[in-house]
Amino acid sequence: MKQTQPGASTQTPAPARSSFFSTQPSRADHFTESVIREMTRLAIAHNAINLAQGFPDFPCPGELKTAACTALHADLNQYAITWGATDLREAIAARVAHYNGMHFSPETEITVTCGSTEAMMASMLAIIHPGDEVIVPEPFYENYGPDAQISGAVPRYVPIRDDLAIDEEAWKAAITKKSRAIILNSPNNPTGKVFSKAELAFIADLCIDHDVVAITDEIYEHILYDGRQHISIGSFDGMDDRTITIGSFSKTYSVTGWRVGYALADEQLTARIRKIHDFLTVGAPAPLQRACVAALALPETYYRDLAADYDRKRKILFNGLRRAGFACQLPEGAYYLFTDIANFGMSDTAFARFLVEKIGVAAVPGSSFYHDGGETRLRFTFSKKDETLLDACNRLAKLNEMGSAS
Ligand code: PLP
Repeated sequence: MKQTQPGASTQTPAPARSSFFSTQPSRADHFTESVIREMTRLAIAHNAINLAQGFPDFPCPGELKTAACTALHADLNQYAITWGATDLREAIAARVAHYNGMHFSPETEITVTCGSTEAMMASMLAIIHPGDEVIVPEPFYENYGPDAQISGAVPRYVPIRDDLAIDEEAWKAAITKKSRAIILNSPNNPTGKVFSKAELAFIADLCIDHDVVAITDEIYEHILYDGRQHISIGSFDGMDDRTITIGSFSKTYSVTGWRVGYALADEQLTARIRKIHDFLTVGAPAPLQRACVAALALPETYYRDLAADYDRKRKILFNGLRRAGFACQLPEGAYYLFTDIANFGMSDTAFARFLVEKIGVAAVPGSSFYHDGGETRLRFTFSKKDETLLDACNRLAKLNEMGSAS
């Protein structure tokens, strides 16, 4: 390469760096930045209440804070074992056996990751050959789109209907010879749907009949309402060697910033996931892994209280949104209300901007949960203190005043 000394003149100036980069194709060109996280930035800029991004504004359990501080004071500052600290993998195995009815070897079948976000990405990179198809129920958590792009998967979307039923014929029609995986998320973000045993049995049969892997994101497994039970598709007969179950500490223990999650899969799948995980991140934060062991030692009452607290919060926001003119249903699980905004006469993005700028409440435009559509939807989270939700409801009530004044 021809080089010049700094400051020396050249007869033909080198092209600007930006033009070089702008002409080089990149897989990053095929998706946009996260709309959810963009809404958080807008909420901060406009001093709005952030009901866009699903993170709690209340503290995590004291036991976790104490354990994290103890780990730091004990100088647990160096890399943990790449696939997770031994005590954490053992504690996850015990908890999953108890709650999910599935049995995984801590030695060979559990990988601790940087949140379920990394678990999903590492799983897809581990099993997808570029051009493979993945079935994605729609609407879907927005990360699954870029995950598919990055791994080279071709998404085939199947609808979750407005009444939350699944359309079995559409699922059957979406399966082709190229199908490699089905991405499940139950309890579901954004719809709040909890897949029933019959629906999961149907999806398990599809996986078995067509030799497809289920990658199942169960991050909201403890946030369930009205007596609903969580069922892991990996617990169905014939699914143990074709399911990757993804979990996380983020939502269950209100520590979304700790970045600790996990992938559970049989030995062969795990061997591949661990290789990808190793070179993506090396490992999750060591002191926080120790604190997550303390999380898994919390009593059963913790989980009952968590669900009861979220039940109260969902009703506060539901009532506030209904009073302000939003059409919505109470969710079956998770901590979102997926509203219909058709009667406000604005598109999802215009309305989301209006709400954050003029009303002081941030929500996520529905279109970020669809490959095509969703413009009549907005998603609100209720993972906030009761007073934050009540404040948001008061602000949203201004929509009525504006409506009656016009
Ligand atoms: N999966 C779903 C369905 C989510 O809603 C979220 C966060 O909102 C995540 C994954 C991210 O989880 P984590 O913090 O474990 O990476």
